[in-house]
Amino acid sequence: MSRLRVLPLVVASLAVAVAARGFDLCLPTANDALLRPGADADFFQPTIEGTVESGMFGCVRANGHRFHEGIDIKCLQRDRQGEPTDPVHAVADGEVGFINAKPGLSNYGRYIVLEHTWDGVRVCTLYAHLRDIAPGLAAGQPVKKGQVIATLGHSTNTREGISRERAHLHFEINFLLNPNFYIWYPKREPDAPPFGNFNGQNLIGLDPAAFLRAYAANRKVNFSEYVSRLPIGFTMLVGARPFPWLRLHPEQVQPAAGTPIAYEIGMTSWGIPVTVWPRTAEEIGEPQRRQLQRGLPVVLRVSEPELARWTCYELVKRNARGDGWIFTERGRDCFEILTYTP
Ligand SMILES: [Zn+2]
Repeated sequence: MSRLRVLPLVVASLAVAVAARGFDLCLPTANDALLRPGADADFFQPTIEGTVESGMFGCVRANGHRFHEGIDIKCLQRDRQGEPTDPVHAVADGEVGFINAKPGLSNYGRYIVLEHTWDGVRVCTLYAHLRDIAPGLAAGQPVKKGQVIATLGHSTNTREGISRERAHLHFEINFLLNPNFYIWYPKREPDAPPFGNFNGQNLIGLDPAAFLRAYAANRKVNFSEYVSRLPIGFTMLVGARPFPWLRLHPEQVQPAAGTPIAYEIGMTSWGIPVTVWPRTAEEIGEPQRRQLQRGLPVVLRVSEPELARWTCYELVKRNARGDGWIFTERGRDCFEILTYTP
């Protein structure tokens, strides 16, 4: 027991040491209209719906009914055939986590995932619909901020495709939910593409435009603090057993008041864990304790105004009696992926 108590302290002090170093960012292409007030239309590439908002992050598609988990950045340069030629840059130092060079396998088309540690927080950046990938770039290689990793494009495997005119960089900043996803997913989806942990379902994103603007306004922004301030849509209870998120994100785990029997996890409405509170038996009501004992996921608290902003991506909903909250099917998947241990 005493050993368990000491460990989080050691991890916490390591996180502080890393935090002091900060991190350096650049934009993923030469298009910097994001940082010019009033220039949204020069930065975000609309869908065929045509609104500037459709290129932004969130419930911006299909009249607000479909979620877009990244931003679409407009192309600036084209060759004589009209094909895009914008170089795509690594936004920060890091390591290549994954490359999909076969556009036919994904709606992301050709895509690259880079892994970084910002202020002690493990995070990924994702670059999709690429025209080509920098020669020789391979998973496991280190990359430098600003390094050219690809060319912007319009590759995808969707039936409707992306026209040359709408070529853009789809860019995400996200968290890898579970390093054991590669075991969980093929059981669920036997025809799973060979993306291992770097499948879109295992990557949950925050609004890259908001973060890049926050960083441009204050280069000392602390990423760990930034994530902890993301709005919580609901909290869920998980029985106190070790699952990978706790080990990968010690910066989120709050001090315990005693021996925890569960973790209460504060989630954004669209599924990013932002804070973990260990909860003791005294802190949890009898009905929730019974549900936990039966291994059922528990939705504990909700912020209705916050959930109301994200109705295109519901993870929780009112139960049939209307006196409590339960997970939707998507919410159960998110819960399962986050807490899966093989
Ligand atoms: Zn997109």
